[in-house]
Amino acid sequence: VAVDFALAPEDEAFRDELRAWLDEHLPPFLASEELADDSSLSGEKSQHRRAAWQRVLNEGRWAAVHWPEEYGGRNATAMQRIIYSEVNAEYRTPGLFNPNGLWQIGPMIIAWGTDEQKARWLPSILDATDHWCQGFSEPDAGNDLANLRTTAVRDGDDYLVNGQKIWISTAHLARWGLFLLRTDPTAIERGAKHEGITAFIIDMHTPGIEARPIRDMTGEEMFNEVFFTDARIPVTSRLGGEGEGWMVAMGTLGHERVGIAGQISLLAADLRAMVTAARSVNPAALEDPSLRERLARAWTDIELARLLSLRALSKIIKGEKNWPEVPFAKLAWSSLAQTLAALSVDLLGPAGVLARGGPDSVDRGKWTRLYSFQRYSTIGGGSSEVQKNIIADRAVKLPGQSRLS
Ligand SMILES: Cc1cc2nc3c(=O)[nH]c(=O)nc-3n(C[C@H](O)[C@H](O)[C@H](O)COP(=O)(O)OP(=O)(O)OC[C@H]3O[C@@H](n4cnc5c(N)ncnc54)[C@H](O)[C@@H]3O)c2cc1C
Repeated sequence: VAVDFALAPEDEAFRDELRAWLDEHLPPFLASEELADDSSLSGEKSQHRRAAWQRVLNEGRWAAVHWPEEYGGRNATAMQRIIYSEVNAEYRTPGLFNPNGLWQIGPMIIAWGTDEQKARWLPSILDATDHWCQGFSEPDAGNDLANLRTTAVRDGDDYLVNGQKIWISTAHLARWGLFLLRTDPTAIERGAKHEGITAFIIDMHTPGIEARPIRDMTGEEMFNEVFFTDARIPVTSRLGGEGEGWMVAMGTLGHERVGIAGQISLLAADLRAMVTAARSVNPAALEDPSLRERLARAWTDIELARLLSLRALSKIIKGEKNWPEVPFAKLAWSSLAQTLAALSVDLLGPAGVLARGGPDSVDRGKWTRLYSFQRYSTIGGGSSEVQKNIIADRAVKLPGQSRLS
């Protein structure tokens, strides 16, 4: 069967319009902004630069293309979201100030929020007024997210919140966060842990909430423990009904997973950039047979991962279930991200160990940082072991007791 990869005319028009807009707006932005390294989400300069870029995008209605037009988006289809990610990767645009808010939390507010909630929160996500975080994980609820135990107990017009979250990215910088809390603590004992979970939008400045940054292996303080001690959250901040939190969360993670297709295009752009860097600081690497083989393999694997995510997309478009492609694509992306990070420092040779901040570091130490940072890719958004379990159980249908909780 011949596969037609040509874009539909409306998708081609979308891509061309975005390219033309970037041609016009990106060079002046890069020239005007101090070239802060925005690869980290948490640095002060990087936050400033990301916010400035998101505002430029929003002015052109390019910040949240998949949101409906009435909320400042373009009603982009799943295909156009991938095109959007690919073109941004091609242009190596600066990072977003509110990636969680734009890609995941905003669509959930649009789907589940009341009119007042939409009017209150969507504009500040879009125009980079406020930074947003997403608080799901807990010390005993990561892959097994439904085991979460931070409680929200109704008290008049409020809920009283107690417990602890962990690994919450940029919670110390965020003004708002989408949190999953347990409103029915008996659900776990009843063996129905997916029930009794409720989603809330929480003002991170509420008394009784404390975000404590955790220093990670890159030396940055990006994610946090978040402690709740009798924090009072108004009922009006509940997103959806009591007990509907699991459905809200599944929608959110679904958006995260479509985002993997975009991450794959970033890998292709990274591979090109690391070859350029090697050409300038360690050209001998590009003649080395074993490195050349690793480069060729990496390129082939990126292409395979891209095709896999396109297959998942074509199933979405046809309204079919898009797995096992989704867990396969997550697995492929995460191992590729680590393979590429290791390849980048090897390609740079001795310069590959020069850390960020040093006068001789290559690309402001991006590759050295990436080498440590990418360890997260096989953990965050569902670990590789668990993706393999899903594939074994549901796609390959291996015999034996289910490994999924
Ligand atoms: C950089 C980074 C940013 C993050 N940002 C956020 C954020 O903003 N908000 C948020 O809510 N969370 C965030 N997380 C947390 C992330 O979602 C969790 O780390 C992830 O869900 C894994 O959970 P865990 O760390 O508790 O590991 P666990 O689930 O405890 O897993 C530990 C180990 O056990 C293995 N394992 C677990 N269950 C099984 C099983 N059934 N079969 C086989 N092996 C198993 C896992 O594969 C893993 O190797 C972030 C994590 C990272 C690394």
